[in-house]
Amino acid sequence: MRRDRFGRGGAFRCRVCGKMTRDTGHLEANFEMCRYCIELAELDNSLSDGYITQEEYDLEAARIEKERNQ
Ligand SMILES: [Zn+2]
Repeated sequence: MRRDRFGRGGAFRCRVCGKMTRDTGHLEANFEMCRYCIELAELDNSLSDGYITQEEYDLEAARIEKERNQ
């Protein structure tokens, strides 16, 4: 995947939540998403693939939202 589309360390807008973010090494620019939305998307995948339970999903989602709001 190309990583130079937004420039190294450049700020861009998350296409999910619309907040300005930047690539901090979590491949944010590749996804055009902030790290929290990436984590939530991965969590959604894990739940739909059956890797985690709804209970685990709720716990993780709450943790991610808490970090996002810090
Ligand atoms: Zn976001």
